[in-house]
Amino acid sequence: MEHGINTEKVKKPLIFSVLNPCSILFGLLGRFAWCKSAGLLIIIRERRKFPVPELPEVETIVRELRPRLLGRRITAGRIGKKNLRRPWKTRWSSDLIGRRIEAVGRRGKWILLRLEKELHLVFHLGMTGQLTVVPARLIRALHTHLTMRLDQEDIQLRFRDIRRFGSVTLFANEAIMQSFFRTSGLGPEPFDLEPRYWRDCLARTSRCLKAVLLDQRVLAGVGNIYADEALFEAKLHPKRLGLSLRSRESGRLRRAIVTVLKRAIDKRGSSIRDYVDGSGREGDYQNEFRVYGRAGKPCVRCRHLIRRIRLAGRSTHFCPRCQSK
Ligand SMILES: [Zn+2]
Repeated sequence: MEHGINTEKVKKPLIFSVLNPCSILFGLLGRFAWCKSAGLLIIIRERRKFPVPELPEVETIVRELRPRLLGRRITAGRIGKKNLRRPWKTRWSSDLIGRRIEAVGRRGKWILLRLEKELHLVFHLGMTGQLTVVPARLIRALHTHLTMRLDQEDIQLRFRDIRRFGSVTLFANEAIMQSFFRTSGLGPEPFDLEPRYWRDCLARTSRCLKAVLLDQRVLAGVGNIYADEALFEAKLHPKRLGLSLRSRESGRLRRAIVTVLKRAIDKRGSSIRDYVDGSGREGDYQNEFRVYGRAGKPCVRCRHLIRRIRLAGRSTHFCPRCQSK
């Protein structure tokens, strides 16, 4: 448990001989516990599936950063040596200098900074990314990939990402950025979901509801936590197929998604491993989960025990009674 959340940790013993180069490599990765037994080196590998920041966490960061960044001018930038998911182009560093930050926004799980002369600096937090405004005097933490000095000299914007699945990209204008989102197939925002679009998406698919909710092409911003919470809110079983839903059920799910996301934004998101908001604070919504991470605990509605199953490649939590098939 971390910050009160089940991080889906599974321990599986893997046995390697002492001389096996794999064991040395895995040891160097530093994510393994070691012990000696019967002349063999036993490596207990901790397999973790990290929940990633979803729409409410990203929206919370945006709301924190906005008042602190709006109108500020970037005076210098420092980029780390290691590449993130998308490589940083050298010329971007000089392109940024002197630009004023005109808007701070969000699209799905992406954070967008609109700069002077139409430039758009776009961040994705990946699994462990942190985008924060911090006092400039604060020592730069390890894995800080981008540091931006601002014309308010006592603060800096920093992007830190331990596992480097996040990204920072500079787009020359909005049209290019939008084209990038289109090419990536990014679906509409949950708050702007057209009822007919949503109904059609469900009616056309034989995938289960959990898979549909996780598909960023159908709907932007929802991940594992809020998919489970929304299905509980809508009293729909995660295994139900999209095409099996009646019109009133699809409407109920659409409204449930909005309700759950707004509720989580009000609580400043869920603090899951490595997530902090734009000021470095943790969120509170993890204390309000109805089903996520609550396997074996009583349902808040009916007291039946919450179940966890594997669905669409992810751990899925639901109440078998409230969300019957
Ligand atoms: Zn229940």
